[in-house]
Amino acid sequence: MLRIPAGNPSPWTGPEGNNTYLLPGALPALVDAGVGVPAHLDAVARALGESPLARVLITHSHPDHVGGVPALLARWPEADVRNYPPDRCRDDEIIAGGDTRLVALHTPGHAPDHFCFFDEQTRDLYCGDLARRGGTIVVPASKGGNLAEYLASLRRIRELAPARLLPGHGPIIEDVVELIDEYLKHRAEREHQVLEALQSGCDTVAQLVDRIYSGLHPSVVPAAADSVLAHLIKLRDEGRVVELSERWRQVE
Ligand SMILES: [Zn+2]
Repeated sequence: MLRIPAGNPSPWTGPEGNNTYLLPGALPALVDAGVGVPAHLDAVARALGESPLARVLITHSHPDHVGGVPALLARWPEADVRNYPPDRCRDDEIIAGGDTRLVALHTPGHAPDHFCFFDEQTRDLYCGDLARRGGTIVVPASKGGNLAEYLASLRRIRELAPARLLPGHGPIIEDVVELIDEYLKHRAEREHQVLEALQSGCDTVAQLVDRIYSGLHPSVVPAAADSVLAHLIKLRDEGRVVELSERWRQVE
């Protein structure tokens, strides 16, 4: 496996931009497409040598992961793209890639069409945006994110106990169970804060954000609001809070 940075650095994607991963071998496969930066395509071509790219596995259809599909197909028209569009992949499907077999695992939460790909030989998991080192994952409630599903996906991967996580952003993660446990703990603490804030009289998303994340830079307030909303929706689906005209309260 070769990590090939996609060349789209930003505060969101990381200093080298997205990670893509090339599995060389009998059926050369690329995990995630990047965004079509010419230097990225050249790096993929160099790593492939004489062989054409045979397959592209997409973790989810956010633009930083999928934007490069047309450019890849222009260069390697025979490449078989999986999970884009999303009906091109099934949960538990076994897909050949490189010299190994990958199990496709539907892991919604960050996005409804999110898949991880598990290498049966090495037990590496190409985890897309399920996890990243040095931060939490955004669960964008207003754009298809679902916190209850995200937590279930984290538990499913914890159960699988992969050797490493190969994420869409940032360095490879070796302490898989520790990181997932940290994530689960963080979300449980945040839920507790949301309930406490509701009890103290906050009843709108804006008030909850103010209370929970005081002193937040204005540029990240929308992301915080989306995260609070994700918690409220989870609690509502569990019958623990109710909403009326965008005002939220805890069920007694
Ligand atoms: Zn991403």
